[in-house]
Amino acid sequence: MNLENEKNENSKIFQLVIASKNIHKIRELKAILHDVISDIDILSLMDFPEYIPPEESGSTFEENAILKAEHAAKALNKWVLSDDSGLIIPALGGEPGILSARYAGKGATDADNRKKLLAKLNDLSDKDLYAYFECCLALSSPEELKKSVCAKCEGRVEIAERGGHGFGYDPIFIKHDYNSTFSELKEDVKNKISHRRKAIDKLLATLESVISNAM
Ligand code: IMP
Repeated sequence: MNLENEKNENSKIFQLVIASKNIHKIRELKAILHDVISDIDILSLMDFPEYIPPEESGSTFEENAILKAEHAAKALNKWVLSDDSGLIIPALGGEPGILSARYAGKGATDADNRKKLLAKLNDLSDKDLYAYFECCLALSSPEELKKSVCAKCEGRVEIAERGGHGFGYDPIFIKHDYNSTFSELKEDVKNKISHRRKAIDKLLATLESVISNAM
């Protein structure tokens, strides 16, 4: 083996595609993954503009995560990680739930979704403001689903928005034992305590073994 080949062999790096076009999710997942795994090359669907994701037709976050990961892994012939997540308010029958991204209708912005939700929160008592984020992740090779995991981050919703970081429902969500909304926390703080971080932690051993087997 000549020196150049040897260098290329040594610099082989595991490539993982995040099956999302949501820049906030991609940013958070990249930051969390780089925090816990070294030497990983992370792409997203932004790198594959020609790829058309499947309709999210599942009835749970986990079903949607699995269908997104399996579809993208087969189509792109790559290892894929997908994230399906949202906010659940039990007192509102689980709303916005799996419709979190399109709560105020197809094409709704995060601000539209929060506005619709805030209008409903006004009618709730204090104890009914209990809420949690859920994040389900699925890891798939082109051949098969490797694993899916789900994690929750419990807290409550506020009836007014606060803070400038984050996305989605971050300006109205406060984790248990905190006083600040997710939007008031710095990104690296949210990334240590969020539903997304907890889900990555649950997936970590599998991801590490997949990476070491692939290298
Ligand atoms: P999905 O892309 O179908 O999984 O929809 C995710 C939606 O859930 C987002 O568009 C947000 O509205 C909401 N969501 C998920 N995770 C978070 C979070 O960490 N902060 C705020 N909103 C979130």
